[in-house]
Amino acid sequence: MEKQWTKDLVLEVYNKPFMELLYEAATIHRENHNPLEVQISTLLSIKTGGCPEDCGYCPQAARYHTDIETNELMSVSHVKAQALRAKSNGSSRLCMGAAWRNIQNNAEFDQVLDMVQTVNDLNMEVCCTLGMMTEEQAQRLADAGLYAYNHNLDSSEEHYKEIISTRGYDDRLKTIENASKAGISVCSGGIVGMGESDEDRCNMLVTLTNMNPQPKSVPINALVPIEGTPLAEQTPVPIWDMVRMVATARIVMPEAVVRLSAGRTNMSDEGQTLCFMAGASSIFAGDKLLTTPNPDINEDMKLFKILGLKGKAPFVDGDKPVSNDSYKNGSDAKGSVKWTRPGHSIERNLEAKEKAKAIRKDLAK
Ligand code: SF4
Repeated sequence: MEKQWTKDLVLEVYNKPFMELLYEAATIHRENHNPLEVQISTLLSIKTGGCPEDCGYCPQAARYHTDIETNELMSVSHVKAQALRAKSNGSSRLCMGAAWRNIQNNAEFDQVLDMVQTVNDLNMEVCCTLGMMTEEQAQRLADAGLYAYNHNLDSSEEHYKEIISTRGYDDRLKTIENASKAGISVCSGGIVGMGESDEDRCNMLVTLTNMNPQPKSVPINALVPIEGTPLAEQTPVPIWDMVRMVATARIVMPEAVVRLSAGRTNMSDEGQTLCFMAGASSIFAGDKLLTTPNPDINEDMKLFKILGLKGKAPFVDGDKPVSNDSYKNGSDAKGSVKWTRPGHSIERNLEAKEKAKAIRKDLAK
């Protein structure tokens, strides 16, 4: 029977003496994965900025004043060209992200479905991160050939309320459930360094371990504080915390791919090496992660060479989805789904919104 993880048990792991934690995580990693293989994924922003949500870390939220360049939805041919480029650089997975609150049944969603089919046909694992979705929308994505859906928990349920007020934790869990029901592999993790406690970090891991099925992929991000967002002044997370988080995720979810995601530009090669040792088995390649900076692929390949690591082939952990054209017969369902709104707002998010308004006003003069 699978071990039932509680907050106290996970905290016990997280707080082990560092060398013990690292050894245990590395051992479990070797028992469940080829420690010399690291999956290389590319994250492509297919629609950037202008998002109505208020995630306190995100420069794509329309309410904050950040200097990102906003873009409308990419064309299918542009996505194909980017996917081929990513593949030639060694990526076996393409993750497409759109700055939406939730998927809408409209022509843009149809276009994304065509992108999914096109990239799946290139023999790459296709992942999407498009916000909240219904069961029917998840099924259409699965029919188009979607391999995985990313929907991060970001933090514990308690701390989530301090970061985002425009939707609730239950909405997150519902979308993840909808992805699972459609047979899509779930990718869900969080961000470290948003002012949360160790308990929050461990509580988030408990929620992930209690999912049925557990996520196949768990991204661990270090916050990249962006000017103009409410979390701009946050102190960068120490590398030791990142290694602890990766190691703990590896121990409590032995079969998952643990992704060392945002924040790698602030990590030394040695810091990243400790993360690989602790069980990180995936990175994002490319100079940008949606809108935040990421190490150059050549730098990554240099480090892989030093460490004797190699990229992982696609579909090692699951079968390639069979695209079928039934995704084209989606319902024309109109009307919006009622997602929950906790009805409270976060002071620092409001402040950032007001500040942004004032700056925009100034610029318009
Ligand atoms: S994280 Fe996603 S949902 Fe939140 S503001 Fe950014 S783009 Fe929107």
